[in-house]
Amino acid sequence: MYNTAQKSRRERVVPDLNFHPSGRHYLQIPGPSPVPDRILRAISYPTIDHRGPEFGALGRKVLAGIRGVFKTEHPVVIYPASGTGAWEAALSNTMNKGDAVLMYETGHFASLWKNMAERLGLQPEFLGMSGLEGWRRGVQADMIEARLRKDVRHEIKAVCVVHNETSTGVTSDIRAVRRAIDAAGHPALLMVDTISGLASADYRHDEWGVDVTISGSQKGLMLPPGISFNAVSPKALEVAKRATLPKSFWAWDEIIEMNKTGYWPYTPSTNLLYGLSEALDMITHEGLDNVFERHQNLAAACRAAVRAWGLEIQCVEEACHSPVLTGVMMPSGVDADLVRKLIYENFNMSLGAGLGKVKGLMFRIGHLGDCNDLTLVATLGGCQMGLRMSGIQLKGDGVAAALDYLQGAAKPVARYPHEHAPPANQALQTRLAG
Ligand SMILES: *Cc1c(COP(=O)(O)O)cnc(C)c1O
Repeated sequence: MYNTAQKSRRERVVPDLNFHPSGRHYLQIPGPSPVPDRILRAISYPTIDHRGPEFGALGRKVLAGIRGVFKTEHPVVIYPASGTGAWEAALSNTMNKGDAVLMYETGHFASLWKNMAERLGLQPEFLGMSGLEGWRRGVQADMIEARLRKDVRHEIKAVCVVHNETSTGVTSDIRAVRRAIDAAGHPALLMVDTISGLASADYRHDEWGVDVTISGSQKGLMLPPGISFNAVSPKALEVAKRATLPKSFWAWDEIIEMNKTGYWPYTPSTNLLYGLSEALDMITHEGLDNVFERHQNLAAACRAAVRAWGLEIQCVEEACHSPVLTGVMMPSGVDADLVRKLIYENFNMSLGAGLGKVKGLMFRIGHLGDCNDLTLVATLGGCQMGLRMSGIQLKGDGVAAALDYLQGAAKPVARYPHEHAPPANQALQTRLAG
């Protein structure tokens, strides 16, 4: 037996998963992103026989649909795994023990992928700027070109870069990396992690000449965590035939063969595939270009707020600001994790922590997936209150700056599939004229 005081202390340390404060939890981390109700409902359909006829139709639909999101005509492999599994799949299907791979340090996720390459028995070379400089900029394609030119014996087998570096809020120019590889006349495969970029930031697997693109479910695709992807070029498939790193669960050949009829060699995540089917419908109805534009607008409004507060944005290259998230640097002496804790405790909102080298120095505001103008306004409101409560002297009213930006960019929300709303002023003129 314990008395009431002990009991309440106990209850405080053991979170009750059935208790939810009123209103929505603001999950403004850059993944997992909030899962829309439509997708949650789709996921709750009964699990079916993964060898039965209905499943084949579902499999064929999602396998075809996801190609459109990657913008590829070639196979996309879907794994019942988190993004990390798809990283491993990309390397283990194409590489041999001891192979040299050129990886570029954009931030924490690039570093984790490099650590994985080491553990798999590869020899990664980690290119990048010294100190924290590289964590504030995109991939410097000229450094890649210079390094590849020196590799006259073509020992480097792959160039690996992160498209949207989720730890910093920096999006790199993948086309420029392709041009660098071609300019050096180098045969290395180009592998790109767009785990947090897909379906939020413009991405073109075929057009940009990417050999393996890695992505995941819980960011722009608005699904819970649990499935991940490899988009594979014909060149990567050729290389895979001779690659000798051990693989079985990850092996592309068996999966791609069975996928032709809409099935998998093992039990796939049936219910997450229901969710993927729903997400693909949502994305096609809105139109990918509209999805990208919405993300660009939210990101610009978020930056307007951060600048009005007088705080620094982690990304310092104007062309590389992420449409997915914004990294907010703290004034010196302020612990970003304490600010996040205050916001979590008082306003029921989760923000992304600074990871690796920038732990405690910054936090990240996610504005991806199922997010609209008013989601962002609430998010920035919570941030502004938390920053002030932390004793930071803000220069100005960031929320007001974001409102101004959003109002200026506002246009009628599309109500019908594929509707492309006219620019705001044009819509207004039509209404006044009519
Ligand atoms: C989220 C993320 C990962 C890791 O994916 P998991 O699903 O957590 O395994 C890797 N790279 C980037 C860029 C990410 O955003």
